[in-house]
Amino acid sequence: MVRKFWRPSSIWANCKGWAVCHFVELGQIFFPASCPACGENISFTSETGEERPTAKFSLCENCVAVFTDVSPRCDRCGLPKCSGSSCEHCQRLVDQLGIKNILWQQIFVLGTYKDGLRAGVIAGKKPSGEDLVEALSKLLVSQRTSMKELRVDAVIPVPMHWRRRWVRGTNSADIMAKQIASSLRVPYRCDIRCKRVKSPQKLLSAKMRTVNMAGMFYVRGNQLKGKRVLVVDDVATTGATLSAITHCLLEIGATVVYAAVLARTDEVTNHDSKQ
Ligand SMILES: [Zn+2]
Ligand SMILES: [Zn+2]
Repeated sequence: MVRKFWRPSSIWANCKGWAVCHFVELGQIFFPASCPACGENISFTSETGEERPTAKFSLCENCVAVFTDVSPRCDRCGLPKCSGSSCEHCQRLVDQLGIKNILWQQIFVLGTYKDGLRAGVIAGKKPSGEDLVEALSKLLVSQRTSMKELRVDAVIPVPMHWRRRWVRGTNSADIMAKQIASSLRVPYRCDIRCKRVKSPQKLLSAKMRTVNMAGMFYVRGNQLKGKRVLVVDDVATTGATLSAITHCLLEIGATVVYAAVLARTDEVTNHDSKQ
């Protein structure tokens, strides 16, 4: 017996098409596509002279230029490349964090945590900045094209304790992870959990941050065993948080861990200096 499905009549299809078309146009009049960083109208005029919006969460050309950082960086520590063949910052970072070596395989950085990008990352920590975080995450993937060749099995955000998440109303790392997972067409997962609310790290040295991070995170379940994982966060200062999470993931048997951040502080602090 052949099962019959309801099919819309051509009149219905035409009416629906007309309504969708005009509602979209009305939407564009009342809510025109705008750059999530500066609010500039980002509609473009097509060859037929018709004004159309660009893709959702796109930045205007000026903001793309502001957030673009072409300075070469070391793949391991994410800091600006040294003039010599080996990276001096890598060893200094290892010494600062009090670890044997950098645990993540490679880190992807959109730019330095200063000026426009710093302002963008800070704005992204509020619920009103979620569109901006999505746009910056898309920019990161489009500018660091080798991310598409990692063949990762999952993208994971640096977790935020539920109490802090509740106070802030958003978690930019989580927004980032969802957008990057979508851009790379791989699953988003949130298997890493916070055991407690993190003490403020701003006034701690790199080594003290590592101590502060010890035992802070755990991986829920063993779904990531044997997997290639990309951990993302909005900003990395000393790298203590990413290092602690990478350690957790490798401990439960993740094959390889990569990291990606929107912004990285470029200063390499001394052992006991505060940053
Ligand atoms: Zn803009
Ligand atoms: Zn390095």
